[in-house]
Amino acid sequence: MRKIKTVAITGGTHGNELTGVYLIKKFFKNPDLVKRSNFETLFMHTNLGAMKQCTRYVDKDLNRTFVTQDLADPSRCTYEDILAKNLNEKLGPKGSKNPHVDFIVDLHSTTSDMGLSIIIDNDSPLVWKLAAYLSVHEPKLHIFRWKGDTAEVSFVNSIAPNGFAIEVGPIPQGVLRADLFFETETLVQKILDFFEKYNNNTLETLPKEIEIYNHIKLVDFPRDKKGEIKAAVHPNLQDHGYIKVQKGDPLFIDLEGRVIYYEEEADVYALFINEAAYYEKGFAMCFAEKKTIKVS
Ligand SMILES: [Zn+2]
Repeated sequence: MRKIKTVAITGGTHGNELTGVYLIKKFFKNPDLVKRSNFETLFMHTNLGAMKQCTRYVDKDLNRTFVTQDLADPSRCTYEDILAKNLNEKLGPKGSKNPHVDFIVDLHSTTSDMGLSIIIDNDSPLVWKLAAYLSVHEPKLHIFRWKGDTAEVSFVNSIAPNGFAIEVGPIPQGVLRADLFFETETLVQKILDFFEKYNNNTLETLPKEIEIYNHIKLVDFPRDKKGEIKAAVHPNLQDHGYIKVQKGDPLFIDLEGRVIYYEEEADVYALFINEAAYYEKGFAMCFAEKKTIKVS
């Protein structure tokens, strides 16, 4: 078993998601909080420009900028392109057998009712072992297997061989919300405890199966011919993360009050419902299936 040498906790990747911004500030003031006996913990703000403006990004979404080919392309030089290249050098490089960090936990919040969630985009056995550990130690946690909105996973965490994002909500953009701040901090502590036990070979027996939400597809708003949104998320779904949706259930309501229903046969679960930052990406929610998967 290869031991964990370095773990990075990153926040402020989206500058208006203040849970991560303030948690990293707290760690700067109290670095002992994230110290453990048998590995090094790095923590950092990843997008200071966006944090200063309190916007998601300066030029483009940093959390979609870690595409291998783009990282090596000198002609890419927006604010976030340069940040991504620097972060890749500092924490990666992406795809390396000998990266600077073994694991990245990237801190996010969402305007949708995601509760306490982790978003996993890879098949790393270590990541899934940690997910199994957290399913026992944090029963409130939702585990969401994200298949993405880009051809290659281009999240911050993708530059390390292992990692995921923590996503908590509902929290408006630019708002610090105490309850979810402390829940995120507790989750980070449990993650660090896991690595300490992992390195010491003192992990308890973990469940062989865990329940996850597995990405099926992204669902856009109904739009007119010009591409403008012509209906809002239906009130039955608003503020209800991980809600079961069956054929005939309302999904959207147009501005005249006409309801648009879910018409497919398969039952699904809706999440990331009405996330503010996804309007520009063209999706209103994500459909997932609830699934029990084996973890080794
Ligand atoms: Zn985010």
